[in-house]
Amino acid sequence: MENTASGTESGSGAVTAGDDAFASGRPVLFRGATVVTMDPGAGVLPDTDVLVRGTTIESVGKALEAPADAAVIEAAGALLLPGFVDTHRHMWQAPLRGIGVDWTMAQYIEWLMIKWGPLFRPEDIYAANYMTMVEAVNDGITTVTDWSHGSRTPEHADAAVDALFEAPGRARFAYGNVFAPDLGWVVDGRVDQLLKARFSGRPDQLVTLQMAVDIIYGPTDDAREALKFARDRDLPVSTHAGSFGLLGDEQIKFLQETGSLSPSYTLVHASSLSDDAFRIIAETGAQLSISAESELNGGMGYAATTQARRFGVPVSLSLDTEVWGSGDMFSGMRATANADRALAHLHSQQGGEALAINPLRAQDVLEYATLGGARALGLDGIIGSITPGKRADLVMLRLDAPAKTPVNNPAGHIVFHAGRGDVDTVLVDGRVLKHRGTLIGVDQSRARRLVDESLQYLRSQIPDEEWEQALNPSAGATAS
Ligand SMILES: [Zn+2]
Repeated sequence: MENTASGTESGSGAVTAGDDAFASGRPVLFRGATVVTMDPGAGVLPDTDVLVRGTTIESVGKALEAPADAAVIEAAGALLLPGFVDTHRHMWQAPLRGIGVDWTMAQYIEWLMIKWGPLFRPEDIYAANYMTMVEAVNDGITTVTDWSHGSRTPEHADAAVDALFEAPGRARFAYGNVFAPDLGWVVDGRVDQLLKARFSGRPDQLVTLQMAVDIIYGPTDDAREALKFARDRDLPVSTHAGSFGLLGDEQIKFLQETGSLSPSYTLVHASSLSDDAFRIIAETGAQLSISAESELNGGMGYAATTQARRFGVPVSLSLDTEVWGSGDMFSGMRATANADRALAHLHSQQGGEALAINPLRAQDVLEYATLGGARALGLDGIIGSITPGKRADLVMLRLDAPAKTPVNNPAGHIVFHAGRGDVDTVLVDGRVLKHRGTLIGVDQSRARRLVDESLQYLRSQIPDEEWEQALNPSAGATAS
């Protein structure tokens, strides 16, 4: 007889921590879902079962036999998809969520990076990272790259890593330090120490390491040494690139000259680069992390999906910072589609023609947000699609609300109609972390308390006048 997950519901209708419905080691069977596999060989499979055993997707098929001890999730009418992958988030900025919704890039640099960033203590970084991972898992983002350029001391980096290990979900710690005067910190021993202490000998752990290196001072010796350090250790690298007025083609040429660009190199934004730069990126196999909400609102340039398509450069999506953006992959996907299509129509109309076909499809955008993210992190062999043998990072969307039915185009529905409120069930590495809309085994109140305390401290260090100016930016209040 099948044990249904609903058989252990509490009075409130939610499966709670301590219930044995999803006890460790117990298989989980999704019954009768519309499975949006994102596996190029499988496509969308209606009325299909997915069996998860241990950390892994064991089988995908019709009317699978349920193991005797399986927890069965009735999924008829629901969409099952691989978890979203965010390839660039400055998690440490979470306590200042929303303060910069009206900022331009210059205002972000003035207030966040120059004035307020140096105020963050290790415990602020911990609180922010912990909260962001809880939020991400709750929203169906099962893997997040912590683009940790607030790690200005080894203690800050330790706090960031502690939070990623203690919070639910899969994470990539991208070690950065934008507050250092040069890139000497990469080679001074702190990265090696962290590698040895936290990231050696456990290649399949949920948290892995890479470098987040910005080349803001040009082609210097310390930049060459930092890039060589990463190459010598086979560490993937990510760099902000192609941001209007700040970072341009010369950076791409420097990365090419140093032999740094490769499929394990991710360029964030790339939204104001020439076609020549894109030729270099395509030749080297480097990948993109596009944050359309940030690029469009902050003024970094146009989302680079158009050039990526023309030159055959792989794309992933990211949510950058919640200081101004949503932290919501559904919004990120829609912003990406809107940006690409608006530009395509504009170009066509400027030539006196109406565009006949949208070149970017919803399916492409969903691919960027799932398999594309996994590929950018070098994890596409284990996550990014619902494929037997891959790790079970899964999201089930319930679509019972009036606005959510019927579903005529499952991938399009996820990109244009679904939202965070539809995320019913989330698994990471086979572990059920959310079911029936409720997180399981996650201390949300602790996350909220830590971030509240952090904000209280940060506010105590920021003059009221400065805070008010940041909330209501005017031309006179911006940095030169
Ligand atoms: Zn960024």
